[in-house]
Amino acid sequence: MGKNIKIILATHNKKKVIEFNKIFKLYNITFLPLTIFTQKQPKETGKSFRENAIIKAKNAGKVSGWKLPCLADDSGLSIKILSNQPGIYSARWAEKKDYSQVFKIIYDKIKDKGAIMEGQRAFFTCCLALLYSPTKIYIFKGILEGNLTYPPRGRFGFGYDPIFIPNGNKKTLAEISSNEKNKISHRRLAISKLIEHAIDK
Ligand code: IMP
Repeated sequence: MGKNIKIILATHNKKKVIEFNKIFKLYNITFLPLTIFTQKQPKETGKSFRENAIIKAKNAGKVSGWKLPCLADDSGLSIKILSNQPGIYSARWAEKKDYSQVFKIIYDKIKDKGAIMEGQRAFFTCCLALLYSPTKIYIFKGILEGNLTYPPRGRFGFGYDPIFIPNGNKKTLAEISSNEKNKISHRRLAISKLIEHAIDK
């Protein structure tokens, strides 16, 4: 691809911007942090990953005057026996607690259903929304299927990684290196679809 493409990344997380720029350097795409336009973040009032990603990208477009395309992501863990909870509430479940407490809450909720946490089916979702205007919307979704384990294992990664074992693996996502995780993750799958779209242009 010839010319450099600039995209606003609708996040206030500096690490996310660095990570995206690292992945996309090869494709001549540069991500600009939303913080150059605003310090405020919109309320995530959507009912799905898709709706929340669109809310964040639309907000970025609004504050930047739609001069550049805007990309936002929304992700989380869905547990089948808990009707796909925490899902879009994955970050919010952990807001005022540390993750070891959240893992215990999940353990108890599954126990209340008369089941055990070990082997429960779950999946991570990453939804990316790329908006060129309020109505020109592209969605790229990545899903990583697996099952749960308790107690948590591993010291790598973040969030729900220590209780999640991807299908076909024995280790949790927190027991494998970030390089290995990045090859198979829901985020990687969604980003691959975005790359295909970008290099198609
Ligand atoms: P978001 O930043 O609004 O997309 O919220 C994502 C939340 O989902 C994070 O705070 C984590 O709790 C959870 N999550 C998303 N992706 C992962 C992952 O790769 N590993 C572990 N937890 C994740």
